[in-house]
Formats: sequence, C-alpha cells, structure tokens
Amino acid sequence: MKVLILGGTGEGRLLASELMTGGLSVVSSLAGRVSSPRLPVGDLRVGGFGGAAGLAEYLRTEGIFAVVDATHPFAERITANAAAACRTTETPLLVLHRPAWHPAPGDNWTLTPDIPAAAAQIAPLPPHTNVLVTTGRQETSAFAGLPQRFIMRAVERPDGELPDHCEILLDRGPFTLEGERRLFAAKDVHKLVTKNSGGPMTAAKLTAARERGIEVIMVQRPALPESVETVDDVGAAVAWLARLGAN
Ligand code: NAP
Repeated sequence: MKVLILGGTGEGRLLASELMTGGLSVVSSLAGRVSSPRLPVGDLRVGGFGGAAGLAEYLRTEGIFAVVDATHPFAERITANAAAACRTTETPLLVLHRPAWHPAPGDNWTLTPDIPAAAAQIAPLPPHTNVLVTTGRQETSAFAGLPQRFIMRAVERPDGELPDHCEILLDRGPFTLEGERRLFAAKDVHKLVTKNSGGPMTAAKLTAARERGIEVIMVQRPALPESVETVDDVGAAVAWLARLGAN
C-alpha cells in the first residue's frame, strides 16, 4: 500500500516522516527545480511526470494506493494534474494545503488575483518607491519595465526579465521577526508584494509590514480543482489515510 506524496513543502516532508514512523510505504515526489532542496525521509523520485497522463501511468505502474498532494498552494498545474490522474485511475486523492493567512487588526492589505495584477498595482507609484517582492522566482518578469526600486527575495534566482532597479536576495525561510524588521528598515521598504502562501515560516514579514504601516499587495491563492478533498494539517492527512485503511 504505497502512498505517493507530491511534495516540495515542509508539510510534505513532515507527512513523509509521520507515515514512515507509522510503518507505511511512502514515495515523495519533487519537481526538481531547486538545486539543493530539503529532502524528505524515505523513497524519493524527482522531476515531472509528463502531465496528467504521465502521472496516471505512474500511479498504475507503481501500484499507488493513495495520493496526498502536499505541494505549495500556488503550484496550480501539478494539483490540477493530480486531480485528473486520480480521477482517471480511481486513486484516492487528498490535498494538504496549509491554512491561508488572514489580515490582523492594523494590516493594510490589497488583494490581487495574480502576480501581473500585483505589478499593475505597483506601476503607478512614484519611481523612488522601494518594493519588496517575495512571490518566488516565477513570473517576476511581470515587474520588468517598471521604474520602481525592487528588492526580490527568492530561494533561487528569478526567471526571465527583471526591472532595471532590482536587487536579488537569495534566501530561504524560516524568517524571524527580528530579521524581517532589520530587512524592512535597511531597505526602507515602502510596499510588500507577496503570495498568500500561509504558514508560520514566512509570516513574520506581515508583522514587520504591519508595524511599519506598509501596504501589502497580497496575491490570492488559485482555486482548487472541483470536488477534491482538502485538509490543512499533517495530522488530518494521517487520519485520512488511516480511514482509507492504509497500513
Ligand atoms: P506547477 O506549476 O504546479 O507544476 C509545473 C510542473 O512541474 C507540473 O506540471 C509537473 O510537471 C511538475 N511538478 C510540480 N510539482 C511536482 C512534484 N511535486 N513532483 C513532480 N513533478 C512536479 O508547480 P510549481 O509552482 O512550479 O512548483 C514546483 C514545486 O515547487 C512543487 O513541488 C511545489 O510544491 C514547490 N513549491 C512551489 C512554490 C510556488 O510558489 N509555486 C513555492 C514553494 C515550493 P509534469 O506536468 O511533467 O508532471
């Protein structure tokens, strides 16, 4: 009864560890984009499956009993592929996504549907505006051509074209509140652009922004495929597998 965990997140690694401790057979899958990823315990496969059809083929040939999609809430394509492949092969599927962030008193958030819409919010601001962008390495070219001064923080160097005034900070969470306060002060950050990734590891920037009265341009999560079962913590995913009779 092998369980496939679609990973690339802390939740994926924690789930692999919990299931292994419980004696389950687990294989984790990573996209293979990050040069030195944090690795889960147990069996690992790396790289795309070749779309939904490739994933369906993998589920059949490997005799996968159930799939837990523990990918990042913004990893939209693999989540859609998992839903389609599991439907085709009648494999049970659970999506494990950490809870989203919600604004606290004193927050000043502007919600946007995607990164190009976030860039459109920045475009009319004065050129001397310092904008911290923490939306990851993908789609940062949406900001190319804008005159503002950008600080882009990501695990790997952003893909594609970048704005003329752009400092890259290669860094990976967790980030502390003290560290975020220092960063916001040192770079004199005026605006923060981020995705609603959720979870505690990267939430300190929201507190730092609140303390400085900074507007946060918050990119909303993409919608999930229809009728997928979803939980927001690892314990609930373990319980779901137990109910399925995984052993
Ligand atoms: P995506 O746009 O949803 O997926 C693009 C393609 O990458 C998929 O169609 C699939 O290729 C392959 N892929 C993605 N996740 C995979 C996995 N866990 N195992 C095997 N193949 C995978 O994904 P993404 O946003 O680029 O994210 C890639 C990975 O980084 C995910 O594992 C995600 O959890 C992690 N991550 C993403 C973000 C983010 O903000 N997007 C942040 C932190 C971590 P095929 O179609 O060929 O199967």
